[in-house]
Amino acid sequence: MKIEMVDLKGQYAKIQDEIDKAILESIRSANFINGPAVSEFTKNLSDYLGGAYVIPCANGTDALQIAMMALDLVPGDEVIVPSFTYVATAEVIGLLGLIPVMVDVDPYHFNITRENIEKAVTSKTKAIVPVHLFGQCADMEPIMEFAKSKGLYVIEDTAQAIGAKYTFSTGEIKHAGTIGDIGCTSFFPSKNLGCYGDGGALYTQNQELAKKIKMISNHGQEKKYIHKYIGVNSRLDTIQAAVLNIKLKHLEEYSNSRNSAAEQYDRLLMGVKDLQIPVRLNKSTHVFHQYTLIIKENKRDALKQYLEERDIPAMIYYPIPLNEQEAYSALGIIADNLTETQKLCKSVLSLPMHTELTLDQQIYITDAIKSFLNN
Ligand SMILES: *Cc1c(COP(=O)(O)O)cnc(C)c1O
Repeated sequence: MKIEMVDLKGQYAKIQDEIDKAILESIRSANFINGPAVSEFTKNLSDYLGGAYVIPCANGTDALQIAMMALDLVPGDEVIVPSFTYVATAEVIGLLGLIPVMVDVDPYHFNITRENIEKAVTSKTKAIVPVHLFGQCADMEPIMEFAKSKGLYVIEDTAQAIGAKYTFSTGEIKHAGTIGDIGCTSFFPSKNLGCYGDGGALYTQNQELAKKIKMISNHGQEKKYIHKYIGVNSRLDTIQAAVLNIKLKHLEEYSNSRNSAAEQYDRLLMGVKDLQIPVRLNKSTHVFHQYTLIIKENKRDALKQYLEERDIPAMIYYPIPLNEQEAYSALGIIADNLTETQKLCKSVLSLPMHTELTLDQQIYITDAIKSFLNN
């Protein structure tokens, strides 16, 4: 049985005719930059998100950088980030001369919390970057309340959570990325809405900010050869937008497949000792970018190897806390201790998760886990 961590070939096979046609059309039109597919996709994604302004760009990392440029963050400003995340979140902070302030995460849902943010705020704090890790929203209502009370910007890193929705205590429901000042997402191929190369986007509810973001992502240009800001060259290719236009139509179905697979895993792993299945928050839906277990009793590394020997891929997201990375150890500030992050880096294990996973594959995977853990 061949099991992929992410099965992009299987997913493509099901939409091949549509995709091939759209890519060919883009090539034949030779409108490679800002062709019609880009504005179509921007409109479609905006509709999907309930009307947010959407500005496409070249990748998710650029989206984060452009967001911080658009909010006029300047060297020395502190930006609060979770210590348990992908490096891109902190990378752009360092690149802009800002100071990443790393805070611990919740040991059950892996996300940043208001309590940990509160401990990290100083007079230099300008922004918070909650990361909706593995596909589930951070608990945004208390975070937004706190940010407002302190006048802090909130930039959501929603690279892993496109399609997730958060419910406020008023009953209002918002898409991940449309809650803070700016949302940043990625269309990297393995993300939940992935293109066939690099891609990303920013969302905002603020029209002025949307205009500025659009300019910054295109050399700070107001019109051709009129440069209002120092910008970057970060655009979504027409071909990628054509692919995304097709895949966006399938996104809900993809999220449902991931949720069904997650429920199967839950069912198959229920009651198995020495592991914890993913914890769901009531306030957020989950889009299962990753299905991440906690393996107890220091058995994680041996289990991973046992699975590999049986051709079952499993990945450690993430093996090293941000603050322990060579590039960031000197740069960042560590707020309080990062006990939970440290524990998570030693105990998390993500199982194969994608839209094409079959029950047979999941039984094979979970039987191997059970036999290793002597259940
Ligand atoms: C993938 C990812 C990014 C970066 O996106 P790219 O498109 O690869 O630049 C940023 N943050 C998180 C949490 C991610 O998972």
